[in-house]
Amino acid sequence: MVDRIKLEEKFLAHDFKDFKWIDPKNIVISHWVRIKCMFGCNEYGNTATCPPNAPSFYECEKFFLEYREAVIFHFEKQVPKPEDRFKWTRKINLKLLKLEREIFLSGHEKAFLLFMDSCNICAECSGIKEKCKEPKLARPSPEAMCIDVYSTVRKHDYPIVVLSDYKKKMNRYAFLMIE
Ligand code: SF4
Repeated sequence: MVDRIKLEEKFLAHDFKDFKWIDPKNIVISHWVRIKCMFGCNEYGNTATCPPNAPSFYECEKFFLEYREAVIFHFEKQVPKPEDRFKWTRKINLKLLKLEREIFLSGHEKAFLLFMDSCNICAECSGIKEKCKEPKLARPSPEAMCIDVYSTVRKHDYPIVVLSDYKKKMNRYAFLMIE
């Protein structure tokens, strides 16, 4: 049983104020997301938590069916240089990992975080799951788990648009699965 009030105290203790509880059934899983990973993304085969190191579409679909609660965390940021976004997402992902750990230790054994970005915990990723340098910290992005982030967050009245330039304000989203 999830005590939302107690968990929200933990979110706020980490200064995560912008979040929404959602029904995991409303997470949109789409094949096109995996196809876009496979064709056109630099992370494919280069990040140990991205495809082909990620579960198949059908495994992802089954995974989300096993949860009754999920939280979307929203983050927005404008960076002076495109490469600055990695430093920002890494810092937030590390904080989210601490939160996931606290929630796990408070009795929610299924707590599982999806980073707001592809895993960039290490300066250089091994690119191979079995050779991950920080296996306890590594988590997939929502996209690596086939989530159509655009459709999912729009369903929950959060903003998102395709950015023509990395200098524009980003809206990024992390997901926390809880039971
Ligand atoms: S923890 Fe390091 S090696 Fe493992 S997936 Fe993340 S960046 Fe790659």
